[in-house]
Amino acid sequence: MNIILFGPPGAGKGTQAKNLEKKLNNFQVSTGDILRDEIKKESEIGRTIINYMNEGKFVDDKIVNSLIKKVVFDKQKKGKLIFDGYPRTLDQAKNLDLWLTNSDQKIDFIFFLNVNKDTIIQRIKKRKIIENRSDDDLDTILKRYDTYMETTRPVLNYYSTNSNFNEIDGALKIAEITSKINDILKV
Ligand code: AMP
Repeated sequence: MNIILFGPPGAGKGTQAKNLEKKLNNFQVSTGDILRDEIKKESEIGRTIINYMNEGKFVDDKIVNSLIKKVVFDKQKKGKLIFDGYPRTLDQAKNLDLWLTNSDQKIDFIFFLNVNKDTIIQRIKKRKIIENRSDDDLDTILKRYDTYMETTRPVLNYYSTNSNFNEIDGALKIAEITSKINDILKV
């Protein structure tokens, strides 16, 4: 089963992706984690993207798409993908569709975790204390939220009329969101 978790930064996509990964024996595909890994490795990609990420800007579609394309065509992960933080642009969404079709796959469920700006700010402030992410300071949070509203939110129109699209109140407690997702997935 392939799943997309969609929503603003701080909506809880990563937490739910990890739950689903365990429950379904699937693979979390977090572009944020993949990109942070490139920075840690000090790879060429890592050196190119570090400033974009620290400023809360999107990494270029070409770079992100090339990293995700490999995962979609990975035979071991076929039909077991949980996208967390991808797609975030229309270009990414269209590319993903193309690769899924070309690898004989589809998206089975899309979950939109909808959360308002104030809740996001409070949550990311807490996460900053726990994870100490360099892009979780207030200025960058606000920048990331604006980028989400301008560039990612419109991607919703691409998916929202699909029969497999589900909107969930992302302000609910983690366990309540998990239970709603599990009910829809019937797992
Ligand atoms: P996340 O961990 O999902 O909150 O992502 C952290 C940062 O990584 C974002 O603020 C972007 O700079 C970058 N990033 C993650 N996913 C993408 C994506 N799909 N497209 C472009 N940039 C991304």
